[in-house]
Amino acid sequence: MAEEEKKKLVVADTCIGCGMCENIAPEYFEVKDDGLSHVKKDYDEKDKDIINEAIDSCPVQAITLE
Ligand code: SF4
Repeated sequence: MAEEEKKKLVVADTCIGCGMCENIAPEYFEVKDDGLSHVKKDYDEKDKDIINEAIDSCPVQAITLE
């Protein structure tokens, strides 16, 4: 049976608004006026490398893929 892989990007409120994720993947993350990064777009497998780079670059590991 084919398993549907539906991944969801989540930014936790431990985000410190450093802007790193936005710099790396501006299509997916945006630091808003509240000083927190927000997910702009649903996870897309074709961009997995850049998304993973953003996840790995977050200094407080606030970004997760669920
Ligand atoms: S890299 Fe992490 S701490 Fe920095 S803005 Fe993005 S989610 Fe927030």
